[in-house]
Amino acid sequence: MKTRTRFAPSLTGYLHLGHVLHMGWVWGEARARGGEVVCRMEDHDLSRSRPEYEPAILADMEWLGFVPDLGISAGHAPHPSPYRQSDCGAFYGEALDFLAEKGLVYGCECSRKQIQARQAWAGGELRYDGACAKKNLPLVGNTVRFRLPPGAVEFRDLEMGDRIQSPESQCGDFSLRDRDGQWTYQFCCVCDDIRHGINLVVRGADILASTGRQIRLFQALEHAPPDYLHHALLTDSKGRKLSKRQRSESIAALREAGIPAGELLAKIP
Ligand code: GLU
Repeated sequence: MKTRTRFAPSLTGYLHLGHVLHMGWVWGEARARGGEVVCRMEDHDLSRSRPEYEPAILADMEWLGFVPDLGISAGHAPHPSPYRQSDCGAFYGEALDFLAEKGLVYGCECSRKQIQARQAWAGGELRYDGACAKKNLPLVGNTVRFRLPPGAVEFRDLEMGDRIQSPESQCGDFSLRDRDGQWTYQFCCVCDDIRHGINLVVRGADILASTGRQIRLFQALEHAPPDYLHHALLTDSKGRKLSKRQRSESIAALREAGIPAGELLAKIP
C-alpha cells in the first residue's frame, strides 16, 4: 500500500523554523517511501483560528518547495474543502452519530472549574472523573465525551520505540465536542486521518501523549490506526518550544527580510 502522510497546520499562527524541521520530516518520510503528502488545515477551533493564516502558511510552503500531493495548496484552496476542518462540521456530526449509536459517547454538564475542584491537581493534564457517564444527559448543549474502554494502549513509534499509554489515567473520558458545538482536535484529527486515507502520521513529540487516545478513537470508529512517527522538536537557546505567535520569528518575516530559502533550510539541524 502506498504511504500517505499529512501536514496539518493549525491556523493559529505563522510557520516558524520548527515547522520547517517538521515539514522536512513529513516530506522526507513520504518521499523515502515513494509516498504522498496531504495538506489539511486544522481550524476546528473557531475561537483561536484565523483564516488569514491559511494563505500565509501556503505561501511559506510554496516558497520553501514543500508542495503537497493532495489537499490544500497555494494553487488549490477551494471553499469549502474536505481538507479544511471548519468546512467539515457535517462530516464530524456523522462520525459522532456513529459513536452515539454504539453507546460510546455521553453528554456532560461539568464545567472545567468543577472538574478541577474535584481533582487533586498535580499539574499535567486535567483528568475527567466520569461524573456524568451514567446520567444520560442530552448531547446537544452539553460537552460530548468519549466513553474510553479500560486498559492501556500499546503501540510502536517508528522513532521513539515501543510505548504504553493509559488514556484512562491521563485524561479520562475526553471531549469530542464542547457545549458550544465546537469540535475538538482529537476527534477532528482521527476523523480526518480516516477519510484522507492516512497510513503514516509524522508529527512532533509534543503530540505523543495524544496518540493512545487517538488509537482508541480509531478502534471505536472501526478503523485500523496508522503507523506513528514522533520526532524531536526544535527548541530555542533556552530549550523552549518555538512559539507560533511571534511574527518576528516567522518564516514570512525571514522571507520578507530577503533571506534566501536555501539559507533558511541550512539553519535546520
Ligand atoms: N494541528 C497540529 C499542529 O499544528 C498537528 C496535529 C497532528 O499532526 O496530529 O500542531
